[in-house]
Amino acid sequence: MADLLEINFDPKYIVQDACPASRNAALKSFPDTNILMCYFHVLLNCKKNKLDIPNEQQHLMFKRYIHRLHMTTSIDHFRKYWKIFVDSLIDNCPSFINYFYNQWLKSNWKNWKAFSSPPGYACTNSSLESFNATIKRDFTHRRKLGIFAFIGKSIDIIRYYSIDGQKFSMTPKPTSSAIKLGKSMASWENFKKIYQRTYFYKDCYKTNFLTKNCSCKYYLKVGYCSHLLALQELFKKKDQFVNKPKKGRAKNSEKWYVRE
Ligand SMILES: [Zn+2]
Repeated sequence: MADLLEINFDPKYIVQDACPASRNAALKSFPDTNILMCYFHVLLNCKKNKLDIPNEQQHLMFKRYIHRLHMTTSIDHFRKYWKIFVDSLIDNCPSFINYFYNQWLKSNWKNWKAFSSPPGYACTNSSLESFNATIKRDFTHRRKLGIFAFIGKSIDIIRYYSIDGQKFSMTPKPTSSAIKLGKSMASWENFKKIYQRTYFYKDCYKTNFLTKNCSCKYYLKVGYCSHLLALQELFKKKDQFVNKPKKGRAKNSEKWYVRE
């Protein structure tokens, strides 16, 4: 289809669920692509095995423990939390730990951690699935089409969206709560300068305002973070102060102009 539409389509990453046929097809067409496992489907599949987890621990398992593994910034960071995960749960739910290890750490479906993909990259295919719902509603009217009929329909869909004028944002947009948090953290006392426009936030995270990146897990997950937003706020104030017109100068220059 990309050839037909003269589009150079060579994705570096493909997010999908644990479907071997999709994986094989993707790797056959794009041998250099990286297959990412959709985090939403990791949780969904884990929930199917919830009977292996004691009732009182199920909520924490899905809301905290697995999420903490997902939000890791490197393989070492992941190993640290994996050890805590196993040590604290092995006595109560050994078969779930065994399932989790084999299915989500040792199989082809292990790339569901935040550090598996570039900063701010989609970690689920949920948005794609909601887009699929609009295709069913607006284009195929919930009728099942054969593969060739659907390819024909897909070209109509692509043509429609290419002239629709919708803007797809290429950079992540901070939420209002992240902006609010950034403002509340905007104090130079929180930041220690390392070199030009690069700071340590409370000796924890290295935030580079020049290249706009941060070593924290939030930056890795969504492509921005409250540390960068706080620095943005601080530099905005600093630049306003530096560029503020000096009160006496306008008067003097006026006098100088009159004398001339
Ligand atoms: Zn950060």
